[in-house]
Amino acid sequence: MANKNTGLPHEDRTAKEPRSGELHPVIVDSIDQVNETIKLFRLRVKVVERGVNFLPGQWLDVYTPSTPKAGGFTITSTPSQASPHSPSPYLELAVQKSPYNPPAAWLWQDPSTILGQELRVRVGGSFVWPPKGVEIGGEKGIDSVVFVAGGVGINPLISMLSHIREETQSPNNPLNIHFMYTTKSPNSLKEILFLNRLIEITKALHNCKLHFFITGCGTNVSEREENQGELDFAITRKRFNKADLDSAIGKKEGTVCYVCGPPRMTDKVVEYLGGVVGRERVFCEKWW
Ligand SMILES: Cc1cc2nc3c(=O)[nH]c(=O)nc-3n(C[C@H](O)[C@H](O)[C@H](O)COP(=O)(O)OP(=O)(O)OC[C@H]3O[C@@H](n4cnc5c(N)ncnc54)[C@H](O)[C@@H]3O)c2cc1C
Repeated sequence: MANKNTGLPHEDRTAKEPRSGELHPVIVDSIDQVNETIKLFRLRVKVVERGVNFLPGQWLDVYTPSTPKAGGFTITSTPSQASPHSPSPYLELAVQKSPYNPPAAWLWQDPSTILGQELRVRVGGSFVWPPKGVEIGGEKGIDSVVFVAGGVGINPLISMLSHIREETQSPNNPLNIHFMYTTKSPNSLKEILFLNRLIEITKALHNCKLHFFITGCGTNVSEREENQGELDFAITRKRFNKADLDSAIGKKEGTVCYVCGPPRMTDKVVEYLGGVVGRERVFCEKWW
């Protein structure tokens, strides 16, 4: 996921992407370490009556107090959670440990150093839900979505799925949703980014299925948890393949796909899904 070859600060790398003209002050309100390489940040929106407008899937230019160039991190929370109608609007980010990226390194300092500090953020990006120019529902609209997330590439997709969950008033979700999530073998399932959130949403929404793949696994804690019957979803211990993608797609009419993951995975999946549902119905974001 890292982009060691580009060496470009985020604003240069994403210069062609749309971005808002507004800079918002936010306060580092809480920090949770999910595993050895990922921390979750909750940023409180300082000007409550303004909130922060964005679409699920967008990212932030993040200016920290000591880094003149912005870092780029995807919003993992939903638009309603940052809206001026929320009593305490906030934005959430999941940031990977990247010591050579100055804004990420700033955020990865000891929490006691940065909690309460003010950052400035600006919304940008075009990888968004709902898809532009595609109608949802109706006779010719889309009725199925396939999300494909690899590792921390789940960030934009969890915001989209959480938003769909919020917008769906009854469990009778009109969309058929397949969420494929692949990640490296963890020490414990608790260390898998957003897995609990995903399970909660897939339980709450009808027609929403989680396809969960763990790669590079030996005997580990997650296997024990599974064997002791603590899980109520299936773990597939392999890399997913074309047949797995086919079973998630089901039918090609009325389907759109969203992909975000490591470079090679994203390229291969986008190419394959494009051949099945049409390239114009496959959306992806590249972080490198
Ligand atoms: C659209 C998009 C969304 C992303 N979302 C997330 C996310 O949600 N979570 C996440 O963890 N990562 C995300 N990233 C990746 C993140 O922005 C960094 O690229 C990542 O932290 C890897 O950093 P790096 O040092 O390995 O590589 P790079 O960011 O490519 O940096 C390479 C080198 O460029 C220089 N450089 C880069 N940025 C700066 C800067 N701001 N100031 C000065 N020098 C700089 C440094 O010398 C650095 O060593 C996203 C990237 C993009 C493009």
